[in-house]
Amino acid sequence: MDQIQTFFGYHQALMRLQQGRDFGGRDKRGKLEALSALCGELLGVDEVSVWTTCISGNSLNRVLSYRRGGGLDSSPRNLSREQLGDYFSALSAAEIISVEEVSSDPRTRSFSHCEADGGGVASLLDAPIFDGCRLGGVISLAAGQRRRWSLADIAFVTAIADSISLINSHEAWLNSRKELDYVTHHDDFTGLLNQRALRNHIKRLIEQGGKVFPEPFALLWIDIDRLNAINNGMGLHVGNEVVSEIAARLRGMLLPGKELVARVGGDEFAMLYRFPKDVGTMHEAVDAILDTIAHPIRVGEQKIQVSASIGISFFPYDGDDTATLIRHSESAMYHAKASGRRQAQYFNQDISASAKARFLLEGQLAEAIANDGLSVLYQPIMANDGRRLVGAEALVRWRHESLGFMSPAEFLPLAYEAGLIAALDQWVLERVCRDIQESRRLEAALPPVAVNLSADAIMDPSLPDRVWDMLERYQVMGEQLELEVIEDAIKGDSKVLRQTLEELVRMGIKLSIDDFGTGYSSLFRLKSLPFTKLKIDRSFINDLPRDVDDCAITLSILGLARGLGLEVVAEGVENREQEAWLQEQGCDYLQGFKYHRPMSIERLRELLVPA
Ligand code: C2E
Ligand code: CA
Ligand code: CA
Repeated sequence: MDQIQTFFGYHQALMRLQQGRDFGGRDKRGKLEALSALCGELLGVDEVSVWTTCISGNSLNRVLSYRRGGGLDSSPRNLSREQLGDYFSALSAAEIISVEEVSSDPRTRSFSHCEADGGGVASLLDAPIFDGCRLGGVISLAAGQRRRWSLADIAFVTAIADSISLINSHEAWLNSRKELDYVTHHDDFTGLLNQRALRNHIKRLIEQGGKVFPEPFALLWIDIDRLNAINNGMGLHVGNEVVSEIAARLRGMLLPGKELVARVGGDEFAMLYRFPKDVGTMHEAVDAILDTIAHPIRVGEQKIQVSASIGISFFPYDGDDTATLIRHSESAMYHAKASGRRQAQYFNQDISASAKARFLLEGQLAEAIANDGLSVLYQPIMANDGRRLVGAEALVRWRHESLGFMSPAEFLPLAYEAGLIAALDQWVLERVCRDIQESRRLEAALPPVAVNLSADAIMDPSLPDRVWDMLERYQVMGEQLELEVIEDAIKGDSKVLRQTLEELVRMGIKLSIDDFGTGYSSLFRLKSLPFTKLKIDRSFINDLPRDVDDCAITLSILGLARGLGLEVVAEGVENREQEAWLQEQGCDYLQGFKYHRPMSIERLRELLVPA
């Protein structure tokens, strides 16, 4: 009866402590301190200490200790399972370790050998603190004088251990909530806020001002130019470095009025800029951002220069809700990009109209790809004599219902940005295979046909399988196909790319580098990849043989190709002078309006088999 009453007294003291205002406001450490002190005073023990287990569960680290008369001590102490095997096993088995004589109890005997015994402890009362099912720590009561622990003592220390376990799980819950909050509002790659956080913030800014006194702000949509080319050409890790460096720079920029920076897409950032009343400072801010980004970025050994395009919309002038503001700054950004990159563009109504048109056009292009709304023309490629037709290049065309024939220069950028380019390339390949099969049936066998592939398509590891499947379906030999890729697509050193290329070559397909001379591929790269042809870009052929620089470049490309054992095609040959010069220099193949313009498959067949 006495025991019960004592325990009841302890328990009431514990309730009073926990329900007190002061206790609720304390952090975890403060709570542990208060509980230890209460325990020490009520039970009259010399020391109360709280310990936590490390992740492996093989050691205990002291969080704090309360000494009666001596106050708190938080110097670190450590107990290991190695030294105190029996003690650890007992705790793990959820045992309350109630020991009258530390030196003789098997569970605590080893304490006298280890320095962490606190010195001169006669009796111990330790209760495990559980963290779910796992041992999370221990609360330990030590008496200098030998003491027999009462049932009330044991019940009370168990109650304290449970309280601590509750405090721990509450803290874990708070932390995970914080983390969740962080995850839902941050971009985990750069640590910047994400699009959701940006939207929330814009909404708050709009609501703050109310309808009567809206406080203007600017939304800047910042898009890195040609990040795709960097990813494809130099490898994803380089692209990632670029993104995280730009994120760090934007975050670090000190601009008066800068409110927040967010990452809103793979290569897109947004910045909120307040008080843009003075247009001058706004311009300066935009210039500063463009400059910051243009500053070369070091990745490993290389220095990379990138640029960005920025679109800007103003609240409340260009939109008074979040969605409109974002849409408008984004379309202004596209406008900036289209007018030559590394530019900033303020939103205006014309942009709104063209954004709508663009959106419409993207949809129509997707439909054209899906429903055979595209077509392919073939441009013959001639031998060095300019007479023998030895090949043809497939060139895609889109006949738009109201805009008429569109050139690839007009709609390929659209296809790239809308993510349609891979599907487009696949469609062209398919059509070419079909034309090859059909021509053979009509006894007008085509020479090898060269198909242009985007960097996206050539970087796709599933390409060889898809090509193989097509060759089978249309009964086409690999030798009948050539693939052209632009120089930039092969800039990076990627194992995947090499494998893809080698698989294609194994099928008998020849590979050429298109628009050679406009990119920066190293000789070494060229040598190490299985290409067999170079196509000299039209821009170098244009002014032959008058322009000495172009002559020099073309000659050096021809020399280079010879050295590497590659064949050379000159594209864009339009007149006799160009032809004569190229023939004299030993250029292997000639292509251009001088011979034939791109033509339909029917016309090509007529050429091959004159009636
Ligand atoms: P490209 O691969 O350099 O193709 C040659 C381009 O030069 C073609 O323009 C062709 O019509 C044009 N051309 C040929 N000879 C002459 C000439 O003597 N003088 C002049 N001024 N031009 C000549 P096109 O058909 O407009 O194609 C433009 C570019 O679009 C191509 O350049 C190629 O990079 C891309 N392209 C075309 N079809 C496809 C395709 O199916 N897939 C992909 N990914 N890209 C394609
Ligand atoms: Ca080409
Ligand atoms: Ca070309």
